[in-house]
Amino acid sequence: MSDYPEYQDPITRPRYTGLPTFLRAPYSESLDGVDVGLIGVPFDGGVTNRPGARHGPREIRNQSSLIRKLNQATGVSPHTLCRVRDIGDAWVQKPFTLEGSHNEIQAFYEAVHSAGIIPLSAGGDHSITLPIFRAIAKDEPLGLIHFDAHCDTGDDYLGSKFHHGAPFKIAVDEGLLDPKRTIQIGIRGSVNDPDIWKFSHDSGMRVIYIEEYFEMGWKAVVEEARKIVGDGPVYVSFDVDALDPVYAPGTGTPEVGGYSTLEAQMMLRGLSGLNLIGGDVVEVSPPFDPSGNTSLVGATMMFEILCLLAEKAGSVNPG
Ligand code: MN
Ligand code: MN
Repeated sequence: MSDYPEYQDPITRPRYTGLPTFLRAPYSESLDGVDVGLIGVPFDGGVTNRPGARHGPREIRNQSSLIRKLNQATGVSPHTLCRVRDIGDAWVQKPFTLEGSHNEIQAFYEAVHSAGIIPLSAGGDHSITLPIFRAIAKDEPLGLIHFDAHCDTGDDYLGSKFHHGAPFKIAVDEGLLDPKRTIQIGIRGSVNDPDIWKFSHDSGMRVIYIEEYFEMGWKAVVEEARKIVGDGPVYVSFDVDALDPVYAPGTGTPEVGGYSTLEAQMMLRGLSGLNLIGGDVVEVSPPFDPSGNTSLVGATMMFEILCLLAEKAGSVNPG
């Protein structure tokens, strides 16, 4: 088939070739024989401002073809450790109702969860994390490491309590998320109400505003995150607006003064060995991202999270 033996492995073929899947993983419509499932959720019906995140999965797939096989910093080779597959999109047949859309997304993740697959998703807006939690946190509430400029624990807005600024309040209310095992990293931005994130504080979440982040430094933040989530099951949710808009301008609600892509990568690498049961990268909005760089950043954060999940999956199902 090829004059070059290494091209027997599709992931090492020239990166401009082939159909774009997430991180060059094989595409699979079947849920059999999959350890980590890469899933797109092209839904942005929960945004409060600039739309476009429904186009995130397709463009992240495209940009993610730039990413090679091995994590040079950690030595992790996720596709070698376990069976990683792009299992397609949790797309919504009836997107004009928000709660109905969430129900459809939840049904997709219930099938994924029943098949024993660890989900790693690309949004979509941040409201999609709620139906994912409803599907995967049925047995016990999860811990959460949450990178974001916003706590997303708001309440009713414009007549709905379901939107991208509130999934983690509802997840606590529904017993899916343990607020005492939740850390939110990078919070900032102007507000209309100084108590907008009161729920996070009152429920006992650890909220690290960006000023404290810079005082602490990323290493101390990682140590604190590890301490807070402990040994129990934990989910990583990465809103790309956590990053400074210098690095990730293509998003719905950018806030200047965030951390860098390298700091985020180092924090993610610092989560190795935790009991991770899933993750997502959300809020990449290609229409606001003419260079494609925000999608590449999103794909890169997905790769860092994949390396963590693959280590976990590889240790559960060795070989
Ligand atoms: Mn968010
Ligand atoms: Mn945000």
